[in-house]
Amino acid sequence: MRLSRFHLHTTKETPADAELVSHKLMLRAGMIRKLAAGLYTWTPLGLRVLRKVEAVVREEMDRAGAVELQLPTIQPRELWEETGRWGKFGGQLLKIKDRKEAEYCFSPTAEEAITDFARQELSSYKQLPVNFYQIHTKFRDEIRPRFGVMRAREFLMKDAYSFHVSDEDLAREYENMKAAYIRIFTRLGLEFRAVQADSGAIGGDASQEFHVLADSGEDALAFSTASDYAANVETAQAAAPGPRPAAAEEMRKVETPVQKTCEDVAALLGIPLQRTVKSVAFFGEQGFVLALVRGDHSVNEIKLAKVDGVGEYRPATEAEILEHLGSEPGFLGPVGAKKAIRVVADREVAAMADFVVGANEPGFHLAGVNWGRDLPEADVVADIRNVVAGDRAADGGEIRLARGIEVGHVFQLGRKYSQAMGFTVLDENGKAVVPAMGCYGIGVSRIVAAAIEQNHDEAGIVWPVPMAPWAVAICVINPKKDPQVDEAAESLLQELKAAGIDAVLDDRGLRPGPMFADMELIGIPHRVVVSARGLEAGTYEYRARRGGEAEALDRAQLLQRLA
Ligand code: ATP
Ligand code: MG
Ligand code: MG
Ligand code: MG
Repeated sequence: MRLSRFHLHTTKETPADAELVSHKLMLRAGMIRKLAAGLYTWTPLGLRVLRKVEAVVREEMDRAGAVELQLPTIQPRELWEETGRWGKFGGQLLKIKDRKEAEYCFSPTAEEAITDFARQELSSYKQLPVNFYQIHTKFRDEIRPRFGVMRAREFLMKDAYSFHVSDEDLAREYENMKAAYIRIFTRLGLEFRAVQADSGAIGGDASQEFHVLADSGEDALAFSTASDYAANVETAQAAAPGPRPAAAEEMRKVETPVQKTCEDVAALLGIPLQRTVKSVAFFGEQGFVLALVRGDHSVNEIKLAKVDGVGEYRPATEAEILEHLGSEPGFLGPVGAKKAIRVVADREVAAMADFVVGANEPGFHLAGVNWGRDLPEADVVADIRNVVAGDRAADGGEIRLARGIEVGHVFQLGRKYSQAMGFTVLDENGKAVVPAMGCYGIGVSRIVAAAIEQNHDEAGIVWPVPMAPWAVAICVINPKKDPQVDEAAESLLQELKAAGIDAVLDDRGLRPGPMFADMELIGIPHRVVVSARGLEAGTYEYRARRGGEAEALDRAQLLQRLA
C-alpha cells in the first residue's frame, strides 16, 4: 500500500467535545468521523484497525468451534413480544416502522432472532451442541452516547449463542468461550481481567465480564488480595452481606455531617477521582448530592437527590437529573455514570442510603446514614470504602479497586429464551426437551478505543502489532527527487509483503518531521526510513514506536528485526 493513493487525514486540533484520550487520538489520527451523536464513519485507516480486531475475534471463535452466520439487524416487533422484551428492553431499543406501519426494532442484541432461527433449524439432540456467532452492527439508543466509539449508538459486536441439551454441556461451552476470550484479548496485546458480573437486561444465571483495565473506564472493579476473586463493583455490592432495612421508616439519619474537602472525599473513595470531585462539586453547586446507595434491592444504584439544606433531601425528578447529566459531559460518579440511568426518582433517597456524599459550602459533607446505629467518623469512612468496593471479599482478603472498560461478556442464559419461544428438540428417548442457551458478546469496535486508552504516549497511538493498521511504515525521503530511493522502498515493501509483513509506504513527499509525526500519531509499531544517504551506505534507519534509538541496519538485519 502506498499512502499517496490512500486517504490519510490527520489533524493537530483536538475537538472540544472529545474527553478521553482514545476519542481525541482516533479523531486526530483520522480513524473516525462523527456523523451524528453516537454514529461514526470508520475511515479507511480506522477500518483497517477494526478489521484486524475482527479477524482475531473470528479466528479464535472458529478455533473454538463456533460457526459464523448473519442475522438481520431489523427485527419484527412480534418476535420481541414473544419474550416480552419489546416492552421491557427500555429506551435503548430503537423502534421503527415500515411503510405499512408494521413495527420493527434495530437489533441491540439477538437472542430472539437466533432462537427463532434455531427453532426452525434444530429438531434433534444430534444437532446439538452448536454455537452460532456473527460479527455485525448493533444499535442501542444509549442515553448519553459518548467517548467516540467507546459508547456509541451504532457499534460492531461479535455475538455468539450456543444451544445445549444439558446444563452440564452449557457449562462446558461457557468455559470454552471464556478460554477463547482469554486467547483473543491476549493476542490483541491488552491488559485485561475477567470479573464476576451482573446479567443485566440479557438475564440468565452465571455471567462474567472481560474488562480492559484503564483509569478512564466507566466500571469500577473490585479485586481481592487473597484470591482470584474479582467482580464488577455493582455485582460485589449486590452480594454484600449486611443489614437490610425491614422498612424504610426504621432508618434515620444519625450522624451529624462531617465537613470534608474535595481531596478528603477523593482519598476516602480510593479511586481516581478528578472527575468525581468535579462532578460532585458540580452537583453541589446545583444543589444536588450524589448518594452511594445500598438499597434493599439486588442491584445498587447511585441516586441523585436535590438537597435543600444540609441533611434534607428530596428526590429529584428523572427529568431534573437527566437535564443535569446532559448538561455536564464530565459527569462520572464513583461507581460509574451509567448507574445514573438507573435512578429511581420517586423514592426517598435519605431513606434508602447508607451514606451520602454531599456537597455544601465550603466543602463536602459525609453523612453516615445507618439502620439506627450511631457511627463514629472512622466507621463511616470504612463503610464508604466497603460500599464502593462491595464487601470485604468473602475470602477475607482486602479489596483493591481498579477501573475497567467492558469489552466482553459471557452469560449462561439457561432456558429463558428457548422456553419463552417454545423451542424444543427431541432427546435420545424421543422426548421433547427445551435446550439450554449461552450467549457471548464482544464489543469489537469498543476494543479499538479501549486499546488506545492502554497504549498511547504524547506523540499519539502506540498500537500492539496485531491491531496496527500496518506493522511497518516505510518512510521515503524525497521520493520525487531520488527515483532510486522510491524503487528501493518499493522493493522493500514487496519483500516484506512476501514475508507476510503488513507494511505501508509513505511516498507522500512530506518533510521528515511531519511524516514521522504522522506515523507516530497513527501508531505504526515499526518505522523504516529509506533515504539516498542511507542507500549509499547500504543501510536503512529503523526505529521502534515503543521507544529506543534509531539504528542504521543493513537489509538482512532489517528483515531479521521485522520478522
Ligand atoms: P455497558 O455496560 O458498557 O453498557 P453492556 O453490558 O450493556 O455494556 P452487553 O449487552 O454485555 O453490553 O454487550 C456486549 C458487549 O458489547 C459489551 O461487553 C461491550 O463491549 C459492547 N457494547 C455494549 N454497548 C456498547 C456501546 N454503546 N458502544 C460500543 N460497544 C458497546
Ligand atoms: Mg449497556
Ligand atoms: Mg455492562
Ligand atoms: Mg455486559
